[in-house]
Amino acid sequence: MQRLLLLLCLAAACAAQPLDIAGERIRAHVKFLASDLLEGRGPGTRGEALATEYLATQFALIGARPAGDDGTYFQNVPLLGVETQPSAQLSAAAKGKTLAFRYLDDFVGASERQKPLDQFDAEAVFAGHGIVAPEFQWDDFKGVDVRGKLLVLFTNEPPSTDERFFGGRALTYYGRWSYKYEQAARLGAIGAILIHTTATAGYPWEVVRSSWGREEPQVKLAPGKPALAFAGWISRQAGQRLLAMAGKRVEELLKLSGSRDFRPIPLGIRIRGRLPAKLREYTTRNVAALIPGSDELRRGEAVIFSAHWDHLGIGRPVNRDTIYNGAVDNAAGCGILLEIARAWAALERKPRRTALFLALTAEEGGLRGSQYYAANPLVAPGKTAAAFNFDGFYPFGRTKDVVVSGAERTTLWPPVQEAAQRMRLEIKPDPRPEQGSYYRSDHFPFAQAGIPAFSIKEGDQYHGKPESYGKKVFEEFNSKHYHQPSDEYRDDWDLAGMEQIARFGFLLGLSAANIEQMPTWRPGDEFLPARENSK
Ligand SMILES: [Zn+2]
Repeated sequence: MQRLLLLLCLAAACAAQPLDIAGERIRAHVKFLASDLLEGRGPGTRGEALATEYLATQFALIGARPAGDDGTYFQNVPLLGVETQPSAQLSAAAKGKTLAFRYLDDFVGASERQKPLDQFDAEAVFAGHGIVAPEFQWDDFKGVDVRGKLLVLFTNEPPSTDERFFGGRALTYYGRWSYKYEQAARLGAIGAILIHTTATAGYPWEVVRSSWGREEPQVKLAPGKPALAFAGWISRQAGQRLLAMAGKRVEELLKLSGSRDFRPIPLGIRIRGRLPAKLREYTTRNVAALIPGSDELRRGEAVIFSAHWDHLGIGRPVNRDTIYNGAVDNAAGCGILLEIARAWAALERKPRRTALFLALTAEEGGLRGSQYYAANPLVAPGKTAAAFNFDGFYPFGRTKDVVVSGAERTTLWPPVQEAAQRMRLEIKPDPRPEQGSYYRSDHFPFAQAGIPAFSIKEGDQYHGKPESYGKKVFEEFNSKHYHQPSDEYRDDWDLAGMEQIARFGFLLGLSAANIEQMPTWRPGDEFLPARENSK
């Protein structure tokens, strides 16, 4: 028994020894990046300058090379900030009655037409989840012409437990709010309002308000591209009052929209909006550093590690705090990224492929930094073996499990299993697939470009804690601190979980950088065609 224990310890030590990865170094990065000095790391602010210079300096210190524009560590990303002003108005009129909604309390949103003042007055049509998905024989519009109409929608998708139908419990891209607006624009609607419910959105109204009631980073509109005069949300209560004008209720319409026979419902209401906006053109930046591979034939190929550095900046005060520090989201991921890069640079013998480290901008504003990278890649997507993303980590200690949703869809699945086994981690299916996390972080634009990509997250079974602990701390964080000024670093944080994730990511990266066959998506996957095209 004793001998066996000793052997096990030795094996663990061997597995751990060459991996000089330390939670305490991650802590130092997180503490700095999440400090008030960095003002919440809003894109295009002083906080950005400080955060990105820090990241570039750290990369330089470990000997990673600049991989950005003109020999620098920075890839410039031009954006247009659109900040809806507090005087924004939204009202509904029917049968001689008018109802006014209050900005932030009842509604949030912006015009996507990028004008200092946008206005509309349009007929409201309820269009369910706003989905057209031929592969699931689903069409919420049934050919009804919604050009010039204001669509009233729910986010999310038809409820399902069948994995072949809208991914079962998991959300597909059809369920994401960004899809709703894109679809509304494709159909020529003047705008789209999502009625918020905590269940369909996956987070409370406070999250919608703090994420949207501020400057929104938009990609500059290409000439002639259709855009919405209003892309917004309305709270459940305000939605209830709006629907009452048409003699309807939220619950009733939610139920109707879960049926394949659903047809758009003209509400007999006109919705009017007046949206003054402050426009600000600015350049933000991704930070990019590389460590060349050792194999002359493979050096031109890369493995990407990514984490977004941005958060919400300075905003609306909550408990008199205006700085949205973004410690968990995502100073934590940046700390992990830097620690992996440091360990990689310290390897005596480098892996065959090049490692590319990307600290991405403007994730919170809709994955803008990763979208820009995917459109302007530093290594061609066809030559990119994999992308591992790190976004949002809890400081509650080590877990027995790890979540790598999407990995099972790629040929990297065996190395993922191997790395998990070596770390004695159980691979857990996404504990909250209904949150649609696959489409909510920066690996998604990489996958759309064909790169086998997924995020690496901690699981929810904590060492030395009851089984329900993970669920409890998630719910507490999600309802109280997510996208709030209280997402702050504290000295009592336990970094062991982040250290574990960094080790796992590092091991997996080694495999992806050395594997003979270029990784790809499995047959039949939604991203395989993009992979084939990227060759
Ligand atoms: Zn994040």
